[in-house]
Amino acid sequence: MNIGAHVRGGGTLIPSLKAGEEIGATSIQIFTQSPRTWKPSVYAPEVLDAFYEAQVAHPSVRHTFCHATYLINLGTPNPELLEKSQATLTHNLSVGRRMGAAGVVVHTGSHMGTGFEVALPQIATAYLRALDEADPAPAGVPECPLLIENTAGAGGTVGRSFEEIGAIIDACGRDERLKVCVDTQHLWASGFDFSTPEGADALVQSIDSSVGLERLTCFHLNDSLVDRGSNKDRHANIDEGTIGLEGLAALMGHPAMRDLPMILEVPGEKDGPRASDVADAERAWRRGVEIYAARATKN
Ligand SMILES: [Zn+2]
Ligand SMILES: [Zn+2]
Repeated sequence: MNIGAHVRGGGTLIPSLKAGEEIGATSIQIFTQSPRTWKPSVYAPEVLDAFYEAQVAHPSVRHTFCHATYLINLGTPNPELLEKSQATLTHNLSVGRRMGAAGVVVHTGSHMGTGFEVALPQIATAYLRALDEADPAPAGVPECPLLIENTAGAGGTVGRSFEEIGAIIDACGRDERLKVCVDTQHLWASGFDFSTPEGADALVQSIDSSVGLERLTCFHLNDSLVDRGSNKDRHANIDEGTIGLEGLAALMGHPAMRDLPMILEVPGEKDGPRASDVADAERAWRRGVEIYAARATKN
């Protein structure tokens, strides 16, 4: 079991490890710059080196993920916005590599009505440019992949299905530095029912056939304020939404998924994940493992 949480970064990023530890998270996710502005945070190399060392030495937090800036839109028909998005993604990845992050999670963006097929070539170019142009990781530090996140399916958003994400990866020549982060709330909102063992099997199958199961790197673990298929991105605390503990358990306990980092991005009491949210997620995970143990005995 590896329950993570989105936490605050803080100036040297090192306080984020403590913040994760304090609520019992064994992985963390942070923003390395303000997610709603273009202004890049510039870190001295020593700061990022120190973070990497602190992370490797940390007794309980095993992985640190970064979340890219929300403003990035690789699908935009506006050349100026595309260029800004490109520069920001490359910068976000440079920071992620330098600090030894386990991945940088990216929202691909929206084609703004032009259509997925029209936007696909520029999206692939943008991902490949970021991977090729970002500063390399220091020697001995593991490669930091870009993690494409699925969307809730609103409007022209790109990445609403594993077929779309698979098509992006295909267009990038199946580059091994591109991986996937699945948000449970977005998946639910996009209409996918994973809330039973059969549904979770179908999810594994769908990821494997279009993306490749080996690219599935982590989850964003959220319950949903809105109904399945509503296409809205609205996170709820575990067991306080329309998926519920039993529904999340079916995904979390699945043998193909149970060992991956599952990062809470829940509201808590408006201040983000609390220790009680981590405890709820742990409960859901244990329930999930029980579900599959019972299924194995039945078969
Ligand atoms: Zn995200
Ligand atoms: Zn979301």
